[in-house]
Amino acid sequence: MDVIVVGAGVAGLVAARELVRAGRAVLVLEARDRVGGRLLSHEIAPNLWIDLGGQWLGPTQERAYALARELSVELFPTYHEGDSLIYQAGRLRRYKGVVPNIGLLALLDFGRSIARLDRMAQEVPLDAPWNAPRAREWDSLTFATWIEGFTRTAIGRWGLSLFAEAVFAAEPCEFSLLHALFYIRSGGGVERLSGIRGGAQQDRFVPGAQSLAKRLAEELGERVLLNRPVTLIQHDSTGVTVHAGGQAYRAKAAIVAIPPTLAGRIQYDPPMPPARDQLTQRLPNGSVIKCFAVYPTPFWREQGLNGFVTSDTGPVHLVFDNSPLDGSVGILLGFMEGADARRMSMVPSAERRQAALACFTRYFGERAANPELYLDHDWSAEVWTRGCYGAHFPPGAWTQFGHALRTPVGRIHWAGTETATRWMGYIDGAIESGQRAAQEVLQTL
Ligand code: FAD
Repeated sequence: MDVIVVGAGVAGLVAARELVRAGRAVLVLEARDRVGGRLLSHEIAPNLWIDLGGQWLGPTQERAYALARELSVELFPTYHEGDSLIYQAGRLRRYKGVVPNIGLLALLDFGRSIARLDRMAQEVPLDAPWNAPRAREWDSLTFATWIEGFTRTAIGRWGLSLFAEAVFAAEPCEFSLLHALFYIRSGGGVERLSGIRGGAQQDRFVPGAQSLAKRLAEELGERVLLNRPVTLIQHDSTGVTVHAGGQAYRAKAAIVAIPPTLAGRIQYDPPMPPARDQLTQRLPNGSVIKCFAVYPTPFWREQGLNGFVTSDTGPVHLVFDNSPLDGSVGILLGFMEGADARRMSMVPSAERRQAALACFTRYFGERAANPELYLDHDWSAEVWTRGCYGAHFPPGAWTQFGHALRTPVGRIHWAGTETATRWMGYIDGAIESGQRAAQEVLQTL
């Protein structure tokens, strides 16, 4: 065996495919009884899929579009015809386009903050954020501290907090300003990260995003082994012995393609060097619960609404129209993120359902109160993910330990969206990481 890949998410599967194409013998060991990791599509009716995990792609995510094309996975645009809603200070207002009517001062404040963030982000090198000229200063501040110091209005502060929760699934106090800036540059700017048309939420996968992973796994066939949680990797100058599901697998090299916090839970013999281990001690995942309500029709469209809501009142602060392309049913998708997700993770599922539907009703009226189907998915409770959308870097992590993120340790190489330079945290970043790790291994073999 040439290479063992740990994890059959997009990153691991893409790495395996590259290696197979280069003529190498590869085995993929996956802990779950399915492939796809953070991509999980659920068929609620024949050929009607919803994505409990990652679901969108958008401009500049060229790797994700290319993979979808290669695997013949069809896409369609996120529904966005009509007015959006904003619920703020107890008032529900509708607006056209992308600029909500929150008052001139607040708009100026928000616009000025975004422009400043985008400008500062340009100073962060994507392959080495710790080398940014002001890296130490920015890595010693939380994003929350920066928001507090820079914004002038309460709505401006709220808007940036909402951006943080929506994009990082974490509170602004949990990650450093340097990480926020790295991530903003990695995704091409604040607007690109948060937008629908022209942004990261622009397109969806007709058969669900997990179909990317399923089709990659089909190509790889028997090289993918499920139900093989890797617990120990022994490594020496000639190769690796990977222990999973009571068996040991020997290869010349390994690619570990799982979230850093889970990579840190694998045992290594000899142990990881201090910098690598301390890095994985410091990269927590965010917290998110995706909530879906399915109705006979997308009834909000009759009122000229596109289903998009931002709200200062939780636990659902963000809503999208997640109906299928043909609009044969109406589906609202709400996000509980950061502190709301943590709180709602601890309550009984009936209470969570009630809380989500109360939010949908607040925004869309009584017709939203009784869906034909409701379901939600708490990613922090997933043992083989432990939180989403991905990892974030708290203060100090990038500057003290960032150099260990991709550096191979002997014959062990690192992949996973967290190791990407462009679109870190996204499907596109996962693909980049798989391709990069495969090239690294091919060069050493
Ligand atoms: P993963 O998908 O996490 O794959 C890692 C794999 O390793 C998993 O299959 C896991 O089971 C396995 N594993 C873990 N530990 C072990 C072990 N010890 N042994 C063996 N196997 C192990 N991205 C977008 O681009 N657009 C979106 O709209 C979007 N929305 C998202 C919404 C949610 C709710 C979530 C959860 C994620 C979202 N993302 C989105 C992020 C996207 O899903 C991820 O960036 C991407 O899927 C990560 O792929 P990966 O291969 O790096 O990691």
